[in-house]
Amino acid sequence: MKCRNCGHKFPEDTQICPNCGAVFEVKSETLSISQTLAVGGIILSLLSLFLPFI
Ligand SMILES: [Zn+2]
Repeated sequence: MKCRNCGHKFPEDTQICPNCGAVFEVKSETLSISQTLAVGGIILSLLSLFLPFI
């Protein structure tokens, strides 16, 4: 990836820029949120199947 602070290029799995020391969080929060939304959608669809009168 490319450092957003200094533009230095470094490996994808590195979260700290070896050039300027800027820390980059892996976008796991966005992934977990989308996964939570996906699971919630599945649960809602299952509920609508089992509770058709709602
Ligand atoms: Zn940097």
